[in-house]
Amino acid sequence: MKNLDQRNKIIEYSLKLNSTNLSPLRSGNISLRTNEDDKDGYLITPSGKKYETLKPEDIVFMGLNAEVENNDSANKPSSEWRFHRDIYINKKDAQAIVHAHSPHATAVSSHRKSIPPFHYMIALAGGEDIKCAEYATFGTEDLSKNIIKALKKRTACLMSNHGQVAFGKNLEEAFELAQEIENICQQYIIALKIGQPKILSFEEMKKVLAKAKNYKKG
Ligand SMILES: [Zn+2]
Repeated sequence: MKNLDQRNKIIEYSLKLNSTNLSPLRSGNISLRTNEDDKDGYLITPSGKKYETLKPEDIVFMGLNAEVENNDSANKPSSEWRFHRDIYINKKDAQAIVHAHSPHATAVSSHRKSIPPFHYMIALAGGEDIKCAEYATFGTEDLSKNIIKALKKRTACLMSNHGQVAFGKNLEEAFELAQEIENICQQYIIALKIGQPKILSFEEMKKVLAKAKNYKKG
């Protein structure tokens, strides 16, 4: 089987979606950038299968130019394959993507607002706030376009009335970022319960972002 290690890695992290409660039941999906038979593309979790039943052959390879209709895999990719593809096309440093309906991020996403810098860890997503992609029906091209817009200079975003998506240079990094986004959303909800939190200034966030960059380099 081609790319067996990558397929197993996707299964390992799909199980973690459930066991860490980052995305309950069949929700969420995971993909990894790869190359099969000289075709650039990505491996992605299939549509409608329970994570605990996944086998390496269930993971679907999609070429970057492929639509579901002309894909020759026996399984259908996740219904959200379109935004995975578009992230790989638009973000050259994206090697892995985690999409989750994590409870707190989903709750915040229903307000359709960016998360302001109430905590400096907002910088983890790459900027001075975390954007929320405008609402569009799941699986559509419109949703994909909205996500790409919200990911401008960012590595993660919320998706209105839906959840969140994060990418990284490998699956560990993308998964950890999705977990961090979920933590930040939980803290934000708690902060809002006791009034309007004070927000860090743009200048302060610029300092934090510069520091985070150096920290990553070191
Ligand atoms: Zn979803």
